[in-house]
Amino acid sequence: MGIQIENISKFYGHFTALRDVSLDVQAGELVALLGPSGSGKTTLLRIIAGLESPDEGRVILSGEDAAYKNPRDRNVGFVFQHYALFRHMTVFENVAFGLKVRPRRDRLPKKEIFDRVFSLLKLVQLDFFAARYPAQLSGGQRQRVALARALAVEPKVLLLDEPFGALDAQVRKELRRWLKKLHEKIHVTSVFVTHDQEEALEVADRLVIMNNGAVEQIGTPEEIYHRPANPFVFRFLGDVNLFHCRTENGHYSFIGQGGDISDKDGSVRQVFIRPHLFDISLTPGNRESIQGSIQHINAAGPSVKVEIVSEWGGSVQVNIPQDRYQRLGLQKGMSVYLIPLQMSTFDETLPTEEQP
Ligand code: ADP
Ligand code: MG
Repeated sequence: MGIQIENISKFYGHFTALRDVSLDVQAGELVALLGPSGSGKTTLLRIIAGLESPDEGRVILSGEDAAYKNPRDRNVGFVFQHYALFRHMTVFENVAFGLKVRPRRDRLPKKEIFDRVFSLLKLVQLDFFAARYPAQLSGGQRQRVALARALAVEPKVLLLDEPFGALDAQVRKELRRWLKKLHEKIHVTSVFVTHDQEEALEVADRLVIMNNGAVEQIGTPEEIYHRPANPFVFRFLGDVNLFHCRTENGHYSFIGQGGDISDKDGSVRQVFIRPHLFDISLTPGNRESIQGSIQHINAAGPSVKVEIVSEWGGSVQVNIPQDRYQRLGLQKGMSVYLIPLQMSTFDETLPTEEQP
């Protein structure tokens, strides 16, 4: 089932929680809503589920305006950050719950409930734990039960609100890979909320970047990462260094560093460069470069992290390959030149990321 979100706004008193949000989720797609805390992700999810109604705009589920549909009839499964499993019920009973509480005329025969619950427990790889209670499971296992429970009633849409948010980093990583594979198997239309960039980039078919109740960009992980639409998205997706450069007749020269541009005569642009898109050289060469001196080196990792103090006194983060680092023989205190391999420029100044 596809979801169309058309020009949705939501106000709480004078506060705008969502501002003119539009989004199409294709049937079978897994879309991630990614944004900082307070950007409106949960509000949007609750509106899709029918737990909240929009002040403007509409939600269309399977081609029908959902406004006239009761949340129960929307056929939506919800998984929250805090696994709200029933503590006094076994894993099996938790997953079977939604099937057993159906009115008698819609209820499946016992045997079919049993078979469906077991096939779901197999799907989330917990069939061996059917008789356990939630307290006897790890956090990751409980979230898998919560997912199986949401899937038991065969929802047409699955909504996940930071489902792995309460788990530690290693378990999160395993579960997001697992979720991706699960989705490839069952292809239920899913909207997944997270504030974790890595998680969103790895799991989703498409990402919706949200900020202050509005959509900043929608695209595939690749599009968003390699072609961020604006400075907010660029910064939100990972470490980045900011500079100012002046452009004249297609030539550019670096003139400063940082987020604020004081000189606004129109020829100064903001330049964003990710740490791995710099090379380090011991000589200025004939390309535009930034001079600096090495303040700190961390070589423990797949690449070497070098922190450099630039000619303007600011700190610049650079990641270079291990072999490049060894060939250059870099040492703390050395004077070096930073050569950008790729840069992105934006005309506008940075939008504020936080609401007052
Ligand atoms: P996110 O899930 O992205 O962290 P939310 O959708 O939960 O953000 O909230 C967006 C903004 O709306 C927040 O500033 C929050 O305080 C506000 N908000 C959410 N629900 C309510 C409510 N019921 N009453 C007033 N403000 C709310
Ligand atoms: Mg939230």
